[in-house]
Amino acid sequence: MPLTLYNTLTRRKEPFEPIKPGKVRMYVCGITAYNYFHVGNARVFVVFDVVRRYLKWCGYDVRYVQNFTDIDDKILKRALAENSTMEQIAEKYIAAYFEDADRLNILRADAYPRATHAIDGIQRLIHELEQQQYAYAADGDVYYAVRQFADYGKLSGRKLEEMQAGASGRVDEEADKKKDPADFALWKAAKPGEPFWESRWGKGRPGWHIECSAMVRDELGESIDIHGGGMDLTFPHHENEIAQSEAVTGKPLAKYWLHNGFINMDGEKMSKSLGNFRLTRDLFANYDPMAFRLFVLQAQYRKPIDFTADALDAAVSSWKTLKEALQFGTQFAALPGWQSAATDNLDQTVVDRFNEAMDDDINTPIALSVVFELAKALSREGNQLVHQGKPDLPVEQLQRQWQTFASLINVLGLTAAEPQVSSDVVIMGVLAGLTGVVTIAEPEGLSDAAIEALIQQRQEARQSKNWAESDRIRNELQSQGITLIDQKDGVTRWHRN
Ligand SMILES: [Zn+2]
Repeated sequence: MPLTLYNTLTRRKEPFEPIKPGKVRMYVCGITAYNYFHVGNARVFVVFDVVRRYLKWCGYDVRYVQNFTDIDDKILKRALAENSTMEQIAEKYIAAYFEDADRLNILRADAYPRATHAIDGIQRLIHELEQQQYAYAADGDVYYAVRQFADYGKLSGRKLEEMQAGASGRVDEEADKKKDPADFALWKAAKPGEPFWESRWGKGRPGWHIECSAMVRDELGESIDIHGGGMDLTFPHHENEIAQSEAVTGKPLAKYWLHNGFINMDGEKMSKSLGNFRLTRDLFANYDPMAFRLFVLQAQYRKPIDFTADALDAAVSSWKTLKEALQFGTQFAALPGWQSAATDNLDQTVVDRFNEAMDDDINTPIALSVVFELAKALSREGNQLVHQGKPDLPVEQLQRQWQTFASLINVLGLTAAEPQVSSDVVIMGVLAGLTGVVTIAEPEGLSDAAIEALIQQRQEARQSKNWAESDRIRNELQSQGITLIDQKDGVTRWHRN
């Protein structure tokens, strides 16, 4: 059976056939950088990380892009509250994103475009929409005219009439400027004191939806294979992305639209707006990130998950089973007859069962049941080895089972390895009530000169509009605990976290 994926656009499972054979271009909507991400967001990153890993496992060459929204009302509000700037708030939470995502063993994206780096592409797209009568300027704002796009509503299945009924009671400052209540902002005129960019419409900044349309086009082209995100993004965000991109290109923005289900808390969707959310990093104070990853994968990605202490505890104990099996690996590898170089000699029957589950719209609970069978068998062998001095299975067979297990668990992104924690400040010698002296070790790693040189390289990349390279350098520095802050005057400041 080929891989089938449930496509929100067609409302059915479809065989997966990428636009270009062997290659997958994939885009997932990332965080708005104004807070640590919550466990509902974490599910999105885990789910699409597994989709990506599985596609790679199937032999596809995958290019995965995930954006950062680094300009937004929420970020500006936060900056005001923390007496900070939009740039500083965004930097802080983007750095935090990487820390938390690394602990969840989320593979790094091939590119992390940011809205504030995509302003040219955004303005170009808005202008094209305007020229083709899909957008109109009103008093420094620019709006998308949804009535002009015949397919509006095709992703979410909503009809314009229903949307208008819903919108009619709402009074906002944009209402007077819009020709139709369902229209949405592409560009917003700057209010006093807000950051802005010069544009043909005056000083302003982009709306949220247009960012993704522009960044997909910049990074991956006009049509991509998979566009993913949480189910709550279907409308209006992804509906609007389609309207913006397809109106200009005349081509489908994405062939497959994948949306994962919510994490519910007390029977309600977990969300920042409802206030019933748990931050991922707070959760990690009490739970192993891998136990949480397993908790997420124990449900098929489109199904809702109830976030309860009992369910989390069960995941902790399940993770213990897998981890124990993984840890026996060192002892197995010391057995005579164990091939030191890893071979690709896997148990094909088991692999087929795993693949069959994953091919059915990434059915991770079934795939996990295959992995658990292996884990239990390996733990039995491990205990046998510890207590009897030798396993029951011939070493060659044991090695095949072990390698199959290690490969499959890697497709699910589960690992017993401790994540690399990049901390350049070590606090030592604090004895409560005794001295209260805190010794802060000298930061290790890159010297100031090396950092300045990298910033210079990045500056050159930026001048030639090579955003991928510029972001790569930024991310590399970030991984070393160095944060860059691009100032309006073009100068980049930096500090060690
Ligand atoms: Zn998006």
